[in-house]
Amino acid sequence: MCYLRLASWSALLLILAQSLISADARAKFSNNAGAATPSTKFIDLSHAFNNETAVWPGRKITFFNEFGGRDENGIWVVSNGFCTSEHTSTHIDAPYHFNENGRRLNEIPFEDLIDIPGVMIDAYDKVHKFKDGKLTVIENYGLTREDVLEWEEKNGKIPQGAVVLLRTGWESRWGNEKLFRGEKDGDAASVADDSIEHNELEPSGTDKSTQFYDPVVAASLAGKLNFPGFDATAAKFLAEERSIRGAGVDVISIDPGNRNKLSPAHVTFASRNIYMLEMVANLHTLPPRGFNLWLVPFKIDRGTGAPTRVIARLNEER
Ligand SMILES: [Zn+2]
Repeated sequence: MCYLRLASWSALLLILAQSLISADARAKFSNNAGAATPSTKFIDLSHAFNNETAVWPGRKITFFNEFGGRDENGIWVVSNGFCTSEHTSTHIDAPYHFNENGRRLNEIPFEDLIDIPGVMIDAYDKVHKFKDGKLTVIENYGLTREDVLEWEEKNGKIPQGAVVLLRTGWESRWGNEKLFRGEKDGDAASVADDSIEHNELEPSGTDKSTQFYDPVVAASLAGKLNFPGFDATAAKFLAEERSIRGAGVDVISIDPGNRNKLSPAHVTFASRNIYMLEMVANLHTLPPRGFNLWLVPFKIDRGTGAPTRVIARLNEER
């Protein structure tokens, strides 16, 4: 009885409240307007987080169903789980990843993540060469300081505190892990394949430190990966002479595949507390400049990185 009375009072109050809200305001709520004006354009630069996600050799991504369906009262409730590296899918590398004194994930302030001016350097034509109808891919192309200066000649100086995104065209390989990692060696590829088991109900192994990382597999593939990235000269120039906040790529690592043993770009950026973004999506949809970025990583305490929603908003005046 009491509940019924409460319910009818609530309904009455709701009707009263609705009549007080203007027709205009109601229209605004109903079409979910208010946050964005019609001319605002947002672009999702994140890959979906799923089993097609590429992982670094020796790591895994595992999804499983925790529970689901209708319970004894007929209520629908489902929940899935996943286990993965912090460095899976579109993600941020905290400077601490390559600098023991660098910022950890939770130490990167919002001021460095939200509404940050972005630029996009399109190196597709430097990586993909068409001649006489034949395509040659320069797989381990490293963007150089000269390439950055060439971009600035056309587009103006990179603003201080910007995030510099490098497009290589590697995104078309997404969904085929071996192609995306540029694996050439047949043996190494099959070792990596064996290490990745999808949709397990129980993670294999009991040692927490190695459960999702197999150093033997990682070592077997070291130096056998091929993909473009930032050359050491570009990293140094952007870090020291342009004081950027972050750098991102559409490939699996910010250093080119054949340079991941010493990782000069990672080390250079991290040494200046510059964060990195890897496996960023949809870079071909961005203009060279004239957009701002919103980066929303998981709040992993003391994390070395985290899957991140990367969103661009195109500025009206570019
Ligand atoms: Zn990473």
